[in-house]
Amino acid sequence: MKVTLLGTGSPVPSLKRASAGYMVQTGGDVILIDHGPGTFQRMMQAGVSATDVSHVLFSHLHFDHCLDFVRLFLHRWDISPPDTPALKVFGPPGLNHFVERLFGEDGAFKFDLTARTNHANSLSIYEGRGGTPPRPWPEAEVTEVGETDVIEGEGWSIRLANVPHHQPYLVCYGVRLQADGGVFAYSSDITLPPEKSPAKPLYGLAQDADLLVHYLNSFNVARERAPGETQAARTKQQAIGELARDCNVKTLVTSHHGPLIDTDGVRERVIADIAAVYDGRLIWGEDLMSFEIGEAT
Ligand SMILES: [Zn+2]
Repeated sequence: MKVTLLGTGSPVPSLKRASAGYMVQTGGDVILIDHGPGTFQRMMQAGVSATDVSHVLFSHLHFDHCLDFVRLFLHRWDISPPDTPALKVFGPPGLNHFVERLFGEDGAFKFDLTARTNHANSLSIYEGRGGTPPRPWPEAEVTEVGETDVIEGEGWSIRLANVPHHQPYLVCYGVRLQADGGVFAYSSDITLPPEKSPAKPLYGLAQDADLLVHYLNSFNVARERAPGETQAARTKQQAIGELARDCNVKTLVTSHHGPLIDTDGVRERVIADIAAVYDGRLIWGEDLMSFEIGEAT
C-alpha cells in the first residue's frame, strides 16, 4: 500500500501545511483518513481525483480533521458518472448528525442540491455525463463505529482504539490499517501529558507497525528531577520515541505540526529528544510525502 501525507499541519491556517489528512491507496481502493482543510487540494496534487476515493474514515470530528469533506463529497457527487458507488464514510458517534446536517434533504446544502437536481441547466450537464433524469440526491453510506468494530475492505482492515483527546465532547480514534502485508498506524490527536505514561491505547495499534504517524502539536522541556525522584519527568517527544521503540515501529513520522514547533531550532530539539530513545527511522512529516509499505499495490 501507499500512504501519502495530505496534511501535516494543525488547526492554525497555514500556506505551508494543510491540516490533518492521510491517504492510503491499496488495490483499487483509496481510503482517506481524516480530511482537514487544505487536504483536498493536496489530494489533487497527489494525482487523485474525488471520484477515485472509495472510503473515508474520521478519527474524530474536530474541524481540522474534517472540513474538506464538504469539498470531497460535493465534487465527487457532481462530477461522478451516474453509476459511481456511494462513498463509504466511517467515524465516531456524531457522524450521522454531521453528514445529515450538511447534505440531508434539510441540510446546509439543500438549496444548492435542490437546484442541481431540478434546474434544466444542471440536468442537461447530468445527461451529458450519461445520467437519466430525475437526478438523484447525493448519498453516502455512513457508519458510526465503536472502538471494537473492525472496518474491512478488499484485502485490508482497520482496527481502532479510543485515544484520550477531547472526551467527553468528542470520541477520538487511533487507527491501525493492515494491507498488502504491511501496517500503517496513526495516533490521531492523542493528548496525554508525558508524566501520565503512556499512550497505552496506542500500544496495541502501533505494535510492529511499518509506519506510525504520530501527533506532535507542541513540545515541552523535561523538568528538573525533584528530590526523591529517580529520574526527571520526560518530555512529550521522548514519550513518543518510547512508544515507537517499545512497539518496534520501523518508521516514525511526526505530523500535526503547529507553527511554534515548526521553527528552526525547535524542530531539531524535538527530533533529538525522540532520537535519544528511538533508533528507528525518524521523519519530520511534510505535506505530500509518501511511503510504500508491504507489497506494492
Ligand atoms: Zn483534535
